[in-house]
Amino acid sequence: MKTFLETVLAEADYQPVRLLKILRAVQAHYRHIPETAIDILTDKLNIPRTQIIAVVEFYSFLHSTPQGRYDILFSDSITDRMQNKESLLSYAAETLKVKVGEVRKDELVSLNNTSCTGMCDQGPAGLINGYPLPRLDRPKIDTIAALIEQETPLIDWPAELFQVEETLYKPGLLLTQPFSNGDAIKATFNRGLTETLAEVDLSNLRGRGGAGFKTALKWRTCAVQAATPRYVICNADEGEPGTFKDRMLLNLYADQVFEGMTLCAAIIGSTQGLVYLRAEYLFLYEKLQKILQNRRDQGLLGSNILGQAGFDFDIEIRMGAGAYICGEASAQIESLEGKPGIPRTKPPNSVICGYLRKPTVVDNVETFFATTHIAIKGGQWFADVGTPQSTGSKLLSISGDCARPGIYEYPFGTRISEILSDCGAEEVMGVQIGGPSGTFISNRELERTLAFEDLSSAGSFMVFNKTRNIFDIVQNFTEFFAHESCGFCAPCRVGTSLLKNQLNKIIDGHGSAVDMEKLSEICLIVKNFSHCGLGETAANPILTTLASYPELYVEQLKRSGFSPGFNLDATLAIARHLTQRDDSGAHLSQQVEN
Ligand code: SF4
Repeated sequence: MKTFLETVLAEADYQPVRLLKILRAVQAHYRHIPETAIDILTDKLNIPRTQIIAVVEFYSFLHSTPQGRYDILFSDSITDRMQNKESLLSYAAETLKVKVGEVRKDELVSLNNTSCTGMCDQGPAGLINGYPLPRLDRPKIDTIAALIEQETPLIDWPAELFQVEETLYKPGLLLTQPFSNGDAIKATFNRGLTETLAEVDLSNLRGRGGAGFKTALKWRTCAVQAATPRYVICNADEGEPGTFKDRMLLNLYADQVFEGMTLCAAIIGSTQGLVYLRAEYLFLYEKLQKILQNRRDQGLLGSNILGQAGFDFDIEIRMGAGAYICGEASAQIESLEGKPGIPRTKPPNSVICGYLRKPTVVDNVETFFATTHIAIKGGQWFADVGTPQSTGSKLLSISGDCARPGIYEYPFGTRISEILSDCGAEEVMGVQIGGPSGTFISNRELERTLAFEDLSSAGSFMVFNKTRNIFDIVQNFTEFFAHESCGFCAPCRVGTSLLKNQLNKIIDGHGSAVDMEKLSEICLIVKNFSHCGLGETAANPILTTLASYPELYVEQLKRSGFSPGFNLDATLAIARHLTQRDDSGAHLSQQVEN
């Protein structure tokens, strides 16, 4: 083990900030993180043992006990469930003779659920040893099972099993722009750095990761900080269920994303960029490394970029390890520093005190992609599209009940009804805009618009038709938040579990009007008292469906009589035992109301 770890540590330059990279390599090799490895890493990296253990426990793709040599995870997004995922998972368990959540006795295979894998346009999907298995069906599971039983190495599996398709149905303002490597960097230097920042300002571009913070303001604030070095981070951790447009951008337009990072570096005075790539996109890692190398070879990364004396900048890709919360900028920075991804207390914001406590710009993949074209075409070109508060266009990942799930690009201000018509959605019951943390709208609200000032979205657009049960959707989303809560603060850690239990009670037909009141109270506590955005939005699925379809909740209550939350008489059994009484007077009967 020592020799193996020495190699892994050397590849990571013995840097504690690369702890996740090191642990991912250990996990891939030993199928878990052995105690001995933790001891050696503690010594070699000179970091507390507790920090390593905390990291192993925090990330869902790291394990303290061995997983199967073939580790299969089924994506548990609502759209996967709508495409028969539950029945396929049972079929896989039966075929592979392993229970869900367990490792087979011979340790050949393990099977479990995982949060959305970013393949909602080609579900039901899964991962095997971290690599994607899109469009699963029974024949594919038969093939996979046979390959596993024969212990065929993954490298020899048919390539089509892993084939991720990028279906681009509607390219718009940005996706149709011609581009050659270096165009945006040349335009930036020809115009001047201050002048290019002024163009980004004029464009009124707002961050595409969800929060909608003005990009130029973020860059300017970072640039004027006295502290150095400054960092550029590309947030490629799109974990919101239903989102996959960053996958497509990195798969097909990576040069334009890296170029956006590079011009940001020129403007803020940074020499180091990091891409935080979500663990589920492992299949993109090697491809992106090659693109980076190609850019170095072309003089677009490295020293004196495109002949600009003193402009040095390079980009490193760091992988996540399965934690939705790491999409939050400060949690991502913690993760990049080799720690559990627990969101920081703000202020200060990351532009002032970010990666390694230095000024840092964290922007989404799509934001950097947009800045590349703004640098080339100018701010007015971008600002002329969309609405005054939401300029430019937005990429949408459309999934669910529609004929054409895939990628679409729309000017802000587009009506939801137009988008539904384009993607072939019929008999719509509702649309989840912005994923579980976003907004559910009913079919009575389809004339609303895609815009920060109306319906904002980081990219997820899930369509549900009238055959769907709204409670299946809310239940899936609420379970998702309970699972992904990082556990740091009580309102979210406890509150998301209470929401799940209270909602299940109502869905199971045991809810009363009092339970609905209690559910609303918990929603408000979680929303108002949580530490970060995850908790602040965890109640959105309940609150927005309640606002859209209150009659369905009322109907659910009508069907049920009152059912106590626990059995009071049974709870008193100990008291009866102690007093040695079991006569009728020592029993309680609970009132049942209709
Ligand atoms: S709100 Fe939830 S995810 Fe955010 S810090 Fe608190 S427990 Fe963690």
